[in-house]
Formats: sequence, C-alpha cells, structure tokens
Amino acid sequence: MYLLEGKIIAQQEKKNIVDTMRDYGITPGLATILVGDNPASNVYVKAKIKACEEVGFYGEHYNLDYSSTTEDVLAVITSLNKNPEIHGILVQSPPPPHIDMVRLVNAIDPLKDVDCFHPLNLGKFFSGQSDFAPCTPTGVITMLDSIPNFSYEGKSALIIGRSNIVGKPMAILLTNRHATVSLAHSRTKNLDIYLQKADIIIAATGQAEMIKGDMVKEGVVIIDVGIDRVLNPITNKSRLVGDVEFESVKDKAYAISPVPGGVGPMTIVTLLSNTLKLALQSISLK
Ligand code: NAD
Repeated sequence: MYLLEGKIIAQQEKKNIVDTMRDYGITPGLATILVGDNPASNVYVKAKIKACEEVGFYGEHYNLDYSSTTEDVLAVITSLNKNPEIHGILVQSPPPPHIDMVRLVNAIDPLKDVDCFHPLNLGKFFSGQSDFAPCTPTGVITMLDSIPNFSYEGKSALIIGRSNIVGKPMAILLTNRHATVSLAHSRTKNLDIYLQKADIIIAATGQAEMIKGDMVKEGVVIIDVGIDRVLNPITNKSRLVGDVEFESVKDKAYAISPVPGGVGPMTIVTLLSNTLKLALQSISLK
C-alpha cells in the first residue's frame, strides 16, 4: 500500500514555490478574511497564515467581529482589490449565516480570486480556458500525480460529494485526465455498486468513516477529503477522522491518503501555489 502523505508532498511543493519566488524575484501577497469566531475556521486560517509565513509570502489578516455585516466585509474586499501588494484574497468559509457569501465572492477581483470561486474563473475552468482551479481538488490531483506508475486513462473514478468547492471541480479535473467519472451524492441510489466498481475513489461527504474495507475493490486508489470529528462517549474526547475507515481499507488499497496529514496540507499548499500563480499573472499583465 502506497501512503499518500500530504504533509510530505506539500513540503516538496513549498520548496518549488520558494524556488520560483527566487527565480522571478517576487513576493506573493495573500489576504485572509475571517468573520466571527468559528473554532474550526480559526484553526484553518491560522494554518494558512503560518504556511504563508513559512514560504516568505506577504500576508494581511482581517478578523472581523461576528456582528459585522456583508457591507463591512465588502469594504475590506474593495480595499484589498486596490492593494498592489495583495495578489490573492480569501474569505474563510463558512461565514456567519447573516453574511451573503455570494456577494463577497462576486466582489473579489477575479485576478485576485485565489480560491477560484468567482463565476468568471469557474467559467474559464469549466470551459477548458484555464487550468486555475479550486485549491482542494487541485491538491488532490497533485497527490494522485505523485503515485508511482499511476495513470488516469480508462479508470473508473467515483467522487462522493457534489459541492462547488470539492466534488464538481474534482469531476472536471479527473475527466480532463481521461478518467470516467461518476459523481455521487446523498441522493445516489446503490452507492455500494459504484464503490465496488471504482478504481479511484474521492470521498468528500463529511460522514465519518462511512467507507469501509468490504465496500471497495482490491487495488483501489482512495483519497479521503473528509474532516470529521468523532466523540468517544467514554473518554468524552474527540478525534479527527475522514470519510474512510482507514484501518479496514488500507490493506485493500493500492494507494490511500490518511486523515489527518493527507488532503489538508495539500489544500493549504495549493492555496500558496494559487497565490503564486496570481502574482506571476499580475507581473505578466503589467
Ligand atoms: P458539503 O457539505 O458542501 O458537501 C457534502 C456532499 O456530500 C454533498 O454533496 C452531499 O450530497 C454528499 N453526501 C453527504 N452524505 C452522503 C452520503 N451518505 N452518501 C453520499 N453522499 C453524501 O461539504 P464539502 O465542503 O464538499 O466538504 C466535504 C468534506 O470535506 C467535509 O468533511 C469537509 O470538512 C471536508 N473538506 C476538507 C478539505 C481539506 O482540505 N481536507 C477541504 C474542503 C472540505
């Protein structure tokens, strides 16, 4: 079994980023915006800021109160759109329910849309005009590309989860690489049949350990995007797991990513490489 250690692959990617920054003599700038105090979002934003510092990016962080309005966040975005030191703007999801995320995404300058959530960038990506794509699925592809002797062509790929940030763009990226893709979701009937046939499985449901060893075929390549917390009722302590029951699947898999230490670090390093791409693009547009 080939263990897809995102942590290690991400270190190599960071080295490539630092080399490119040196070659071009540029300092990419990333702005992060966090509204409210959702503990998980706090952890994710801190990890992103730390990664920026590690590679020497310029960073600005805006932590707005829970009571901030959509207009307040829009004002920050407008000023960041004009700031030449900032190449990428990220609004951490999910914002508080009273915030209109669609308006925020649409207000970000498409040239600074590091998450590739703006409809203009999504349109270019879906129509094949650009390979700039959302961070998590791009990170998954980097992981898959790192598997020795692995090819997508003619493979049956199953993606479970149809969100705009993971499942749907993942389907495009795998289709472009000549896999035959099934996109399953909570209303899919007979998921077990799809699971038994799949050569590649990308699990992104948020359902803790729902995929077990007896559901998948021998030699499967399985990427676990899920980040799920399960509580031990005896110790009252929670632990982090994925959508895949790692212990029962690992011996059947040709390659598998763990949780934690799998897709998480790949999402973060792709955020850095997307920021770098936008910084390089800004030079070429000058
Ligand atoms: P989402 O809630 O937007 O989408 C979940 C999807 O799973 C939906 O399409 C739903 O139909 C499907 N689903 C739910 N239960 C199902 C079931 N029993 N059978 C089949 N399909 C089912 O979530 P998301 O934002 O796409 O994230 C999915 C998971 O990935 C979450 O655990 C999230 O925390 C994690 N995530 C991790 C990273 C990372 O960097 N590791 C990044 C993004 C999301």
